[in-house]
Amino acid sequence: MRRTVIVMLDGLRRDFVGPENTPHLAALAERAERFAGYRSTFPSATRVVSSTMATGCYPARHELQGNTLVLLEDGRLVRHDAGHPDFLQRKRVVTGRSLAVPTLAERLAGHGGAIIFNNVSPGAAYAHDPDGHGHVYHRAGSFGPGRVPLPSERQLNVTLDAVGDRAMTERFVTDALARPGPALAVLWLGEPDHIQHNCLLGSPEHLAVLREADRNFGLVFQAVEALRQAGDDVLLIAGSDHGHETVTGVVDIEDELVTAGFKSSPDSEEIVVAANGTAALIYVHPDHAARLAGLEDFLNSRPWAGLVVGAESLGTVGQAARHGLAFAVSLKGDERPNAFGVPGSCLVAKPAGGKADRLGCGQHGGLNAYEQAPVLMIDGLGFEAGASRETPVAVVDIAPTVLRHLGLPAEGMDGQPLQLSPTEDRS
Ligand SMILES: [Zn+2]
Repeated sequence: MRRTVIVMLDGLRRDFVGPENTPHLAALAERAERFAGYRSTFPSATRVVSSTMATGCYPARHELQGNTLVLLEDGRLVRHDAGHPDFLQRKRVVTGRSLAVPTLAERLAGHGGAIIFNNVSPGAAYAHDPDGHGHVYHRAGSFGPGRVPLPSERQLNVTLDAVGDRAMTERFVTDALARPGPALAVLWLGEPDHIQHNCLLGSPEHLAVLREADRNFGLVFQAVEALRQAGDDVLLIAGSDHGHETVTGVVDIEDELVTAGFKSSPDSEEIVVAANGTAALIYVHPDHAARLAGLEDFLNSRPWAGLVVGAESLGTVGQAARHGLAFAVSLKGDERPNAFGVPGSCLVAKPAGGKADRLGCGQHGGLNAYEQAPVLMIDGLGFEAGASRETPVAVVDIAPTVLRHLGLPAEGMDGQPLQLSPTEDRS
């Protein structure tokens, strides 16, 4: 049978892949095609990449604008954490739809189905299948078709760390890589992202966990080889959703907007900032559109502003001016190394609600070099073993690539299949 297997090592930077720290991924690189021009989304944030990968569309079309975002609800700008387990169900109530375009899980219902095992935030996990077409396993709750909760003995009771990832990987191999199995099996590890947010990049603590994440990939690699030997035509996609940069400073954008007179108080709702790590989405209530020109000049004058994208140009970063989204900001970064010699330093937007700012540790969200250098390798029919493709490719290209392998149409997606040759000539 034709099947596709995707393994994501959350937060893995391309320059951390090598024989010493990731021997299994390095072994895959010998026989897979590597994508040196693969970039993350904007924001380069897990929930955004998850919905983009699931739909083959940019946020402008699937509507999950950020890890933190704003919905215009009854005439008010209301900030939401899209990592919350109920976020997309809440969005459906507010806007009439969860994600605005179909997911792979929906497209594959009736064509072999999809199983997702995921150990990042619940919101990111459920973005793969918010309407319940396949199976999603997550520690916050696992669901089958119709979003019916699975019985307690089939729930995924794991921790968000390397040990939990290991237990999840073993379940994944047993359940999702069985024969016969689903047309699409996705394993999304919580590491190395989780450790990178909590220690110095390149530290012994970081590298130890990275080796564990690679070992988990190795289990899948081995299981995929067994499937191939048994006769299955498997497309194996391994990669990550974004990289990380070292946080060197924290900017309280809302506080600056209050001081400059654009906002009347930190809690006022005429302008709302959704911090996304090293990026921010800035929403302006339609009643206050007169402030837009002055606000654009102000943002561009800030020493922390890397790139400021205004409402009319949001399409250039895959976004659209919905729900009052007026500016997309990537905070300033540079090449400076941290104490372990790992290059890439960046400022972050202060998160709402007292969440950790990750000062000194890893973070992501913007358009800086290392957060936009994640990993993508594809092993299977239509890909050149051991080659490196330099042309730009994007997260939106993954879903059409999956469908091409399965012989299914991919109409209505922003991305393009990455196979070099037609797959009709398979034996
Ligand atoms: Zn991530």
